[in-house]
Amino acid sequence: MSIRVVLVDPKHPGNIGAVARAMKNMGLTQLHLVRPKAFPDAEATARASGADDVLDSARVHEEFEDAIADCGLVIGTSARQRHLTFDLVEPRECAHLVAEAAQVGNVALVFGSEKYGLLNVELARCHRLVTIPTAGDYASLNLAMAVQVITYEILLATRPGAPVPPPPDVPFATGREMELLYEHFERVLEEVEFRDRTGGGQLMARIRRLFNRARLDQNEMNILRGILTAVQARRRVAGSKSQRGDG
Ligand code: SAH
Repeated sequence: MSIRVVLVDPKHPGNIGAVARAMKNMGLTQLHLVRPKAFPDAEATARASGADDVLDSARVHEEFEDAIADCGLVIGTSARQRHLTFDLVEPRECAHLVAEAAQVGNVALVFGSEKYGLLNVELARCHRLVTIPTAGDYASLNLAMAVQVITYEILLATRPGAPVPPPPDVPFATGREMELLYEHFERVLEEVEFRDRTGGGQLMARIRRLFNRARLDQNEMNILRGILTAVQARRRVAGSKSQRGDG
């Protein structure tokens, strides 16, 4: 089980190098890059200092989903407090969640681009959002500095001698499993002609938010998939009966 850092759309290769260094200082080695503007790059290698091994083993993805597909806990980060739909956590609380979840599955710490931060489509795939408290209203840290603070707290929470939270009984559903659940949900909602009353077609976004807050484990996800399959089976039976005219 492992803890990875995911950088979405990083623009400056120097920041990627500085992130690798910050991670290695705190004992983390798995770096995932989603659409890096320039990578590999001499500037990244220079800024990584002695952490070129983290850069060398970094994985590059075109899609954010692929970077979190096998993760049971996905933590987003934001300088902005205005994501009202999230329960915001501070880095220390975040580190305890990570220490707990990393015992039974992979964990992703997700950081946004220097310019825009994380977009809604990425936030919709995060279970929790962590904000590093800052003084006044100048809240935006340099990307690598934000990685440093978050991973420092994780080091404190996971190093030998730190109180280990009890592991969850059942592993959490992974990013990929959740995507399959949402696809299934959407199919069934269409089949039963469920009307989206959210205004602006927000129904699936709301459902995602609900499940992200709940953070489903494998058993809970299987129950929901089973219910959806049962609804589909029932509709098929009802459909064939009414075709025969005996319904
Ligand atoms: N202009 C962007 C800031 C991006 S800073 C915005 O308004 O969102 C680049 C990244 O560093 C952010 O996406 C986030 O991952 C991280 N970061 C910067 N400041 C942070 C803070 N105070 N708390 C948590 N993450 C932060």
